[in-house]
Amino acid sequence: MIRIYNTLSKKKEDFVPLKEGWVRMYVCGPTVYGLIHVGNARPAIVFDAFRRYLEYRGYKVVMVQNFTDIDDKIINKANDLGVNPQKLADTFIAEYFRDAHSLGIRPANFHPKTTDYVKEIIDTVQKLIDKGYAYKTPYGDVYFSVRKFPKYGELSGKKIEDLIAGARVEPGEEKKDPLDFALWKAAKASEPWWESPWGKGRPGWHIECSAMSTTLLGESFDIHAGGEDLIFPHHENEKAQSEACTGKIFAKYWMHNGMIRMVGEKMSKSLGNIFLVRNAVAAFGRDAIRLFILSKHYRSPIDFSEEILIDNKKAVRRGWEAIERFEKRMNVEIPVPKYDSWMNEQIEKFKESLDDDFNTPEAVAQIFNLIKELNKAMDSGDEDKALKAYHLIKREFGPVLGLFDLSREIKRLEGKESKLIDLLIDIRNKMRKEKRFDIADEIRDKLSEIGIILKDKKEGTEWEEVK
Ligand SMILES: [Zn+2]
Repeated sequence: MIRIYNTLSKKKEDFVPLKEGWVRMYVCGPTVYGLIHVGNARPAIVFDAFRRYLEYRGYKVVMVQNFTDIDDKIINKANDLGVNPQKLADTFIAEYFRDAHSLGIRPANFHPKTTDYVKEIIDTVQKLIDKGYAYKTPYGDVYFSVRKFPKYGELSGKKIEDLIAGARVEPGEEKKDPLDFALWKAAKASEPWWESPWGKGRPGWHIECSAMSTTLLGESFDIHAGGEDLIFPHHENEKAQSEACTGKIFAKYWMHNGMIRMVGEKMSKSLGNIFLVRNAVAAFGRDAIRLFILSKHYRSPIDFSEEILIDNKKAVRRGWEAIERFEKRMNVEIPVPKYDSWMNEQIEKFKESLDDDFNTPEAVAQIFNLIKELNKAMDSGDEDKALKAYHLIKREFGPVLGLFDLSREIKRLEGKESKLIDLLIDIRNKMRKEKRFDIADEIRDKLSEIGIILKDKKEGTEWEEVK
């Protein structure tokens, strides 16, 4: 039985989907006005891996992840650049998919964009007005009446009395109550707008997820997920709107991932640079970034630093070296071993870890233990055990977490770097001819430490850079 920590009940619960065998899940996606960083990648990696695990456990999963493609930040940036906000958002949606792919994140079944759901959003807002949960102001804004929804605060654990102290009304707002939040915003000059029953305007932030999730997954669905920074106000508001509108439970389980913290006083320029997914993948590789994220429990905070990523990169390299060492020993296609009691125990252990609120650190540790077992079996010539360990790493567990499942990343260096390596190889080969193997081996080992792997072939020595 899978158990997950439900932010709503604040405890671990047995996972029982609303429809047997099916899981419908919605993950809040990014606001697209720039390239994504590792912080954005965390929920994408974690909940994609969780979905793979649900599939591994036999569920059929329908996953939705939205793009917020209309919002103040997008409009401001587009105005600064003098481009159309829609065009800007579409550009960064394409860039998102590029980065997500480079991290081995599978696309969701649906990736709705806010601007494609304006009709559904307007319908939802109208329903809330008709039911007395929302009101229009003379300015043409529409607000949700927080006090009309008695369960408000249930998800975040916030109390109305505490919220009142911090609430304020911005100039130009005509809220009846400082707690109320916008469902629809009247159009300002130089902003995109849509026609609505309340005049020209655009959706508020929270309403889009209510409209898109219920349109694609139904009024009630199983899992709503996202970063813990979204619990309040975003998810609290989504829940209030949706449940006020339908009178039904919105999401049964709420899952939230912890944040990524920068180590050190403030983020240095170089740290900021590698915090972008694109640069992080180029510097450390896909598997190292995934390992960095999955070796911590998804609800815990993670520290981000260059040293930590270097450690992950080294660990990944050790894993790949064992895998490739085994693959080289097998000249034939690697067969599927007969599952024995040892393998079944391993599988049970893997499931036990991940059933327990998706404890990926334990599952990752198990994979690295298997890498040790694989090396040990090869050292002692136990080919059968080696095959079993290999199979578990590469074909059974790897694909669930997206570790060691794809091919190893290999990059070709160019220019002077490449010439320097060729030069070192020439010196090494000279040393070998003169039987000075200590120096020759040292060159090979030192190059391997920085990720340059030499391969001696009949035609000469080849090299490749691995991450
Ligand atoms: Zn959302």
